[in-house]
Amino acid sequence: MMSTQERLDQAADDYEKHLRSCRQCGAETMPCAVAKYLRRAHNNLLRAARRQQDAFPR
Ligand SMILES: [Zn+2]
Repeated sequence: MMSTQERLDQAADDYEKHLRSCRQCGAETMPCAVAKYLRRAHNNLLRAARRQQDAFPR
């Protein structure tokens, strides 16, 4: 199983790769539906990671 950090990195990577390879995201000022989905997925992971840190403070 991937750690939270690995999944976060993966999601950020997917999003950046998409922005670089997607013609619509390159041409338009508004991101396409896929970009929005990937960004939301990344944000959700980020929030989950923060919640985890709050539950188990170091
Ligand atoms: Zn796109």
